[in-house]
Amino acid sequence: MWTFHLPTKIMFGAGSTASFAAMPELAECRTVVVTGPVIGKLPAIQGVIEQLSPVAIFDDVRPNPTVRNVDALATLLREEEATTVVAIGGGSVLDCAKAAAFLAVTIESSIRPYHSGGLPVDRAGLPLITIPTTAGTGSEVTPITVLDDEEKNLKAPLASPLLYPVIAVVDPEWTLSVPLGVTAATALDALSHSIEGYWSKHHQPICDALAKEAAKTIFTYLPEVYDNLANPIAREQLSYAALVAGIAFHMPRNAIMHACSYPLSCRAHLPHGAACAFTMEASIRLNAPYIEGRMEKFAAACGFASIDEMTAQITLLKKRGGLPCTLTEAGIAPELVETLIQESFHPMIQNNPKEVTVEDLRKIYAELG
Ligand code: NAD
Repeated sequence: MWTFHLPTKIMFGAGSTASFAAMPELAECRTVVVTGPVIGKLPAIQGVIEQLSPVAIFDDVRPNPTVRNVDALATLLREEEATTVVAIGGGSVLDCAKAAAFLAVTIESSIRPYHSGGLPVDRAGLPLITIPTTAGTGSEVTPITVLDDEEKNLKAPLASPLLYPVIAVVDPEWTLSVPLGVTAATALDALSHSIEGYWSKHHQPICDALAKEAAKTIFTYLPEVYDNLANPIAREQLSYAALVAGIAFHMPRNAIMHACSYPLSCRAHLPHGAACAFTMEASIRLNAPYIEGRMEKFAAACGFASIDEMTAQITLLKKRGGLPCTLTEAGIAPELVETLIQESFHPMIQNNPKEVTVEDLRKIYAELG
């Protein structure tokens, strides 16, 4: 038995932002635009912001958004009596806006009790429109926000069916300016979503099909984007793959690679996608024997003759994008490895098809040494 649910309306394609910004309903809204300090300064994005006539702009979101970013944005949303939040940026911007759009309708002054204090998300937030400028996280359609609590040294997701954005506007043109390293990390993040959604204990047929579609698209088009970062057709395909991978994992949820990624981001400061990709090949080798030939089918659906051929291509894609493939390349001192292992036991690791032990993680890190 399984269920599938996605309440987010999706507008996809080059020019979809213009169609969205022209919606007459928007004129009635008190819109706050959330963006990043870099992306918000791009002339094309400034044009969109102008068209939206926001009552305020918040551009103080740092990569791996913090509890403090969310709290400050929620204060602004209350002060401005915002009725709509439009987030334009990478996953960091979208996640910050998602958490703040919810926090703004509560009586709490901080997202912390919801993020790490066990307080349940109990109501829908302000309507959130997401406009991703990277092709990776799928945050445009997921009911998940990943936040970094610097005071607690904790990076973790907050998830609830009440956190879905109302509209996702996926306009691949925004990704044309994404540099090589971010392109690689975000594409590998999307690949990790497709693989984790596929092997999660809670996987189901619709998400399985989407996972294979997303992975095949990434394996086909990421090399083309590496060859020419300004290739609009290949960029469009990566935006599509990231969106589809987001839908593929939003219900089954992530597993071992993401559980390992949080300490890799917090302690070793790897960008999110690089952190997810770091243990990818070793995690595939660990899980494959436990999912009854399904990984072989996944590799075949992506055009590979074997799992080994697929993992070799993953390594190549990481190397071409400048992502770390060894502890040395990631700047991880051997003394840190045991801490990384101990801090990888986030509850989501229980979604993994193989029950993960400390010994499994030691073996994975030994392969990366
Ligand atoms: P990001 O948003 O942190 O952006 C990375 C860098 O790229 C930033 O410096 C940003 O300014 C720059 N950038 C963004 N768009 C650009 C563009 N069009 N041109 C040039 N530069 C651009 O990176 P991300 O990988 O998109 O998001 C990562 C965050 O998303 C992490 O915190 C991660 O945990 C989270 N995440 C959330 C979900 C979810 O479902 N909510 C899923 C996966 C990851």
